[in-house]
Amino acid sequence: MANIKIDSNSIIGIVGAGIMGRGIAQVAAKAGHQVILYDNWDGAVDNAMKINEKELSKLVEKKKMSQEQKDQTISLMKPTMEIEDLAPCNLIIEAIIENKEIKQEIFKKLENICADVCIASNTSSISISALANGLKRPDRIIGMHFFNPAPIMKLVEVISGLQSDQQLIEDVHALATSWGKKAVYVKSSPGFIVNRIARPFYAEALRLYEEGVSDFATIDEVIRTSGKFRMGPFELMDLIGNDTNYSVTASTFDSYYQDPRFKPSLTQQEFSQAGLLGRKSGAGFYKYEEGKQKGRDEIIKVQASNNKLSEITICGTLGMADELIPLFKKAGINVIQTSGDGYIEFNGIKLFLANGKMASQISKELDEKNIAQFDINIDYELSSSITIATSLLAQKHVASNIAALFNQIGKETLIVKDSPGLIMARTISMLVNEASSTVTNGVCDSYSADIAMENGVNYPIGPFKWADKVSPSYILEVLNNLESFYQDARYRVDRGIIEKNIIGGKYYD
Ligand code: NAD
Repeated sequence: MANIKIDSNSIIGIVGAGIMGRGIAQVAAKAGHQVILYDNWDGAVDNAMKINEKELSKLVEKKKMSQEQKDQTISLMKPTMEIEDLAPCNLIIEAIIENKEIKQEIFKKLENICADVCIASNTSSISISALANGLKRPDRIIGMHFFNPAPIMKLVEVISGLQSDQQLIEDVHALATSWGKKAVYVKSSPGFIVNRIARPFYAEALRLYEEGVSDFATIDEVIRTSGKFRMGPFELMDLIGNDTNYSVTASTFDSYYQDPRFKPSLTQQEFSQAGLLGRKSGAGFYKYEEGKQKGRDEIIKVQASNNKLSEITICGTLGMADELIPLFKKAGINVIQTSGDGYIEFNGIKLFLANGKMASQISKELDEKNIAQFDINIDYELSSSITIATSLLAQKHVASNIAALFNQIGKETLIVKDSPGLIMARTISMLVNEASSTVTNGVCDSYSADIAMENGVNYPIGPFKWADKVSPSYILEVLNNLESFYQDARYRVDRGIIEKNIIGGKYYD
C-alpha cells in the first residue's frame, strides 16, 4: 500500500470518543502522534478530554510521567465534532457503537474525506471482511482490537479481513508494537482470539455449577488458588456484567452456527434477565456494596483427620503432580515409589490425578471403594490449597485422610462433588481445546494465542504453555474422557491436539 504512511509520524484519527476511543487517543498521543479525536456528540469529546487530563495527572502524581510529557500529550489531542477535520489522517481508528451499518456509513464518509488512509475498526464482534464489503477501497479496512482500559491493557489484535492489504496489516502491527503494545496477527473470524478462547473459562464454571459440582465461591477459589488466575469466573462475570457476558456468548454461539462448544448457559441467562448483572447492579453471583463485594461466601473445605502419615506409596508417575513428591519428602513423609497406574496410596486410599473421568468411574473399574482424585495446579509448591473429589462409593474418612496428607505439606483441601475433570483439569483442557481449534482454523498461531490470553485477559500463562506444563497427552486424555462421559460434541477434541500427540513433543519445543 505504497501511498499510505503508517509510521511514527502518522496522524491518527479516532472516531468515537467513548470509553475505548478516548483511551486509544491517549495511547497514540503518548507515543507522540498528532491525534484528531472525533465524535458526533459534544458531550463525548469534552468528557474524553477531561478524563484523559485526569488520568495523565495521576501518572504525573505517581511520577510515571513528567509534567512536560503530560502537557505535550494533551496538546497533541485535538477534539472535534467535524468529521472533515479527519482529512489529514493516515490511520483512523474507529470506536463507535457496535453496529455494522452505522460503522459502514462512517467508513463511506471517511473514504470521501481522507485521501490515503487506513481505517481500523475496534469492533469486538463484527467481521472485518463484512465491514469492508461495499467500500471503494476494501483493502484499506482492517481491525485493531484494543482491550479495556486501552491505556493499560497491552494487547492489540490486528485483524485482517479477506480483502485487507497485507502490508498495511504489517505496518499497523509494527505501529502498535512501537506504542508498547503486544500486537498479534489475527484472521477475521467470530470472537477473534481472546473472546473466542476465553469462552470455556466462563462456560465450564457455569456448567459445573449447574451440575451441582460446587458453588460460585468455591469454584472461584479453586481457579484463583490452583490456576493463579487473577479472578475466578463468577467474580469476573460479575465485573463484566452478566448481560454483556451472556450476549457475547450468545452471539459467538450464533456466529458458529450453534456449535455446542459455545452454548450459552441458562443460569447466566436467568441472572441477566433478573437484572442480577453483577457489580454494576449491586448483585450478581455475589452481592456488592459501593462497588465492593459484600461479605465472603463460604468455601467448601475438608477438615483434616488427626492421623499423621509417616509413609505413602506413589505407584507409577503422577504426571505434573510428581512436583508433590519432594514436598512430601520435605515434610518428613517416607515416600515409597513403585510401578503402577499413577496414584498415591495410603490408608487403603488410592488418590489419582484428575484425568477427565469421575473418581467413581475409576472406583467401578478397579472395584474399589476408596478412590479419590485431586486437581491439577499451576504450582503445587506455592498454592495454598489442593482440590479433591471422592468416589460416590468412598467411605466417609477418605476425604479427611487426604486432607491430613495435604495438611502435612501446608495445604488446605477443598472438596467438590465427584465430577469428570474436577474444576481445573476440565477448564484448562477446554481452554487448550479452543485455543487449538483457533490455531487449526488459521486464525492465529499458538504463540500469538498465548500472548493474546496473557495480555488481553491477564491469564497467568497462555493455554499452550498450560498444555506443555501438564503435557499434550494429558490434555488429550482429559478431553477424550470428558467427551466419552458427556457424549456431547462440546467436548470433542480439536484435530490440532490429536496431531500434536501423533507428532509428539511440546508446543514450545
Ligand atoms: P462507548 O459507547 O463508550 O463510545 C462510543 C462513542 O461513539 C460515543 O461517544 C458515541 O457518541 C460515539 N458515536 C456513536 N455513533 C457515532 C457516529 N455515528 N459518529 C461519531 N461518533 C459516534 O463505546 P465503547 O465501549 O468505547 O465501544 C466502542 C467500540 O469499541 C465498539 O465497537 C465496541 O464493541 C468496541 N470495544 C469495546 C470494548 C469495551 O470494553 N468497552 C472493548 C473492546 C472493543
